[in-house]
Amino acid sequence: MPALQEDITDHAAPAFAAARPSLVGCTRTQLADALLAIEVPDRDVRMRVGQLWHWIYFHGVRDFDRMLNVSKVLRQKLADHYTLTRPEVVTEQVSSDGTRKWLIRMPPAPGDQIVGGKTMGAEIECVYIPESDRGTLCVSSQVGCTLNCSFCHTGTQKLVRNLSSQEIVQQLIVARDQLGDFPGLTPPTNGFIPSGEGVRAVSNIVFMGMGEPLYNLDNVSDALGVLADGDGLSLSKRRITVSTSGVAPDIPELGSRTGAMLAISLHAVRDDLRDKLVPLNKKYPIADLLQACRNYPGLSNARRITFEYVMLKGVNDSPTDARELVRLLKGIPAKINLIPFNPWPGTQYECSDWSIIEQFSDIVFSAGYASPVRTPRGRDILAACGQLKSETEKLRARARLVED
Ligand code: SAH
Ligand code: SF4
Repeated sequence: MPALQEDITDHAAPAFAAARPSLVGCTRTQLADALLAIEVPDRDVRMRVGQLWHWIYFHGVRDFDRMLNVSKVLRQKLADHYTLTRPEVVTEQVSSDGTRKWLIRMPPAPGDQIVGGKTMGAEIECVYIPESDRGTLCVSSQVGCTLNCSFCHTGTQKLVRNLSSQEIVQQLIVARDQLGDFPGLTPPTNGFIPSGEGVRAVSNIVFMGMGEPLYNLDNVSDALGVLADGDGLSLSKRRITVSTSGVAPDIPELGSRTGAMLAISLHAVRDDLRDKLVPLNKKYPIADLLQACRNYPGLSNARRITFEYVMLKGVNDSPTDARELVRLLKGIPAKINLIPFNPWPGTQYECSDWSIIEQFSDIVFSAGYASPVRTPRGRDILAACGQLKSETEKLRARARLVED
């Protein structure tokens, strides 16, 4: 049985227990609390939060002394009590196709592993995928995952805790640091920026790294508020996609609280099979899941739900499965993403043959759906997160045909 959502440590608060906690990644409310804690007068707090916000999220500064419109006295006080430290980038790997993978170590937090009396900071991977018209950052919402989907490597990891909203936001901060991509900085000349006026190196975010975002909805929703804030990091909500394995009751709430785009990890069209692939299906079967999708706020042809379907050889990849998929999704504004399975050591599954994937894609395409096949980006650096999007030219052209 998968562990219950309530079993895991909820690391919601920023690490204010640390000697000098970092303010990077905080929400406006957390910044206000941090200011009140160092006796900034009530009447000044809103204005000071606005200033800090701009320096931290628009300019990406790492030093309080750069905050020129903040008095020297307050700058010193801030530096005495807080930092602008980022989590540590342990390694950076760059794939031959430009995909970058960072191993990020968070500061130690409650719920982390203790080794030899020392709390070890959680490590998560974050993947950046540049394309000609966008740059996508794949972020994690939890360390590990309680859900044990049988084809997913993350589900086999023992330790699980929620990431705080601060830790979720810090993943974008790290990416912007690495890519020189803060709006308040001169655009980098290192060639990462996709072409197009006003397009940032990171223009899109997908919650397709580790974890089930809807089991950490409060922190994901706070983080989304920071990511999409127009005075700071300024990501468009239409370019932020949250992927869920199907926590049906929380799906409408995700939409009403965040306005994010929704992706559903469907992977099977029959309950008996989906029970095996995504055990959460036993709790929320396909019919309930699709009903929750129909109730997703703001759904329209311009704001479709993405249905992810991992292609598993001889398991879910028959023409009958493809036709049933089309039938099931009737009436839901949908896109379908076929994901070639990424093998990992010890897995019982294999990826479907390319001809079978094409056959499946043909059926879905004929029914009027864009059906881009996402082949793994950054395979040489094992950057195998769910958002792996580089279709063959033929399939890319098809997808565009339907989207335009
Ligand atoms: N827990 C959430 C989000 C993270 S998983 C969810 O399940 O939706 C992101 C995506 O990667 C999901 O669609 C997931 O099914 C897919 N995925 C997981 N393991 C995979 C693998 N080995 N190969 C291909 N896709 C995989
Ligand atoms: Fe968790 Fe998603 Fe992996 Fe399932 S596919 S185990 S929900 S991360």
